[in-house]
Amino acid sequence: MAGLRGRCLCGAVRFEGRGAPGGVTPCHCGQCRRWSGGGPFMPVHFAGGVALAEGAALAWYRSSETGERGFCSHCGSSLFWRRPGDPGDWAVSAAALPEGTAHRIARHVWVDDRPGWYDFTDDAPRLTAAECLREDGT
Ligand SMILES: [Zn+2]
Ligand SMILES: [Zn+2]
Repeated sequence: MAGLRGRCLCGAVRFEGRGAPGGVTPCHCGQCRRWSGGGPFMPVHFAGGVALAEGAALAWYRSSETGERGFCSHCGSSLFWRRPGDPGDWAVSAAALPEGTAHRIARHVWVDDRPGWYDFTDDAPRLTAAECLREDGT
């Protein structure tokens, strides 16, 4: 299956998601909201992982014990989340994929961190931070 090509705002970072994209899992935690510049970070995983086409401008910020965030060092776009150093399973910002991509929301995570001034209208499951951590086995 052909992948979906994504990029940052300026185009210095380009990648291809391989295989089928999964559902979007908006994360409402404070780190994701601060990093994404407003609403939640809205990542998707690809069945076959992610291949970088142009990555010289890609930089990583270690935001916690368990995660680091990939961004374009030229334009600042928030692009990827991964376990530290993980070469394989990167979560990709749904917003970096082509316009018109038909995303569906699989579930919301860290919903108890969501501030009261925005909400979503979908009826996907909503997991609290405690439920997310339990699922990770941490
Ligand atoms: Zn860029
Ligand atoms: Zn988060």
